[in-house]
Amino acid sequence: MTARILDGTKIRDQIFAELKDEVRLLTAAGVRPGLAAVLVGENPASQLYVKSKIAACEEIGLSSALITPPATVGTLEMLAVVEDLNRDNNVDGILIQLPLPPQVDTKRILEAVDPAKDVDGFHPVNLGRLVSGRPGLVACTPAGCMEILRRNNIQIEGANAVVLGRSDIVGKPMALLLLHQNATVTICHSKTPNLAEECRRADILVAAMGRPAFVTGEFIKPGATVIDVGMNRPPSGLVGDVNPDDVKEKAGAYTPVPGGVGPLTIAMLMANTVRAAEQHLCCA
Ligand code: NAP
Repeated sequence: MTARILDGTKIRDQIFAELKDEVRLLTAAGVRPGLAAVLVGENPASQLYVKSKIAACEEIGLSSALITPPATVGTLEMLAVVEDLNRDNNVDGILIQLPLPPQVDTKRILEAVDPAKDVDGFHPVNLGRLVSGRPGLVACTPAGCMEILRRNNIQIEGANAVVLGRSDIVGKPMALLLLHQNATVTICHSKTPNLAEECRRADILVAAMGRPAFVTGEFIKPGATVIDVGMNRPPSGLVGDVNPDDVKEKAGAYTPVPGGVGPLTIAMLMANTVRAAEQHLCCA
């Protein structure tokens, strides 16, 4: 059996096209949605990520601003930056590019972002809304995984879903989103015994561990849908958490790396910014 490829780039393009129309309407109504990115220091990977996010803003017609505090910035100065952006009516979404330098209290900075502008979905208020199934801004990567499943008509209700990884930004929100769609969800982590056996029960397997090609054929139920969130960069190049040869052979459908989940993360950041702008418009 050769598995179906779940093409993230194609879905990203669809979402961008939909957002462009929404942004055109908002702009015609006098509101041009805007994203502000805060990039601290000169980490090349962070610079690259922010550059592609700004380019995405330009592509769909959002305004963008880049704030670049030096690597020596302290927590209080960062709080002042966030406060300015919270107050700025031209800013609908605030993106704090992580990681922040060690002298900065990252949790405190993320909690200072106005939840209505928290387009990364990291604020405890938005996490709480997600837990209780109320509308809010949802973390971009898990939201993107859900779009991949939805737009490929993968049955979630009644499915056994296993999420490998329990981070606050991927694993936990992913598990909650699947749960809200009536999957039966298991969350696995580094202390889970019999990992492969747990995973083999999954109709939908989401790998978000940060372990290159860790998920091999013995983890995959024949015909399962496998979503590979992993983005690992060993010297050989970009590798997901799932062994690419095994998944092709055993899964029913899977997201490739690159070209699977990655493009959706930026698409959902754009979608969250447009949603936030719409909310600001209707609450103004
Ligand atoms: P993280 O915070 O490091 O969390 C990794 C999780 O995997 C933890 O819960 C950890 O368990 C679990 N884990 C690690 N090794 C394991 C093992 N051997 N067996 C079982 N569980 C194990 O990572 P993250 O931020 O969630 O990111 C996960 C991956 O997704 C990374 O490769 C990251 O680059 C990628 N990512 C991709 C995108 C994208 O746009 N495609 C976005 C975000 C992240 P414990 O909790 O027990 O330690």
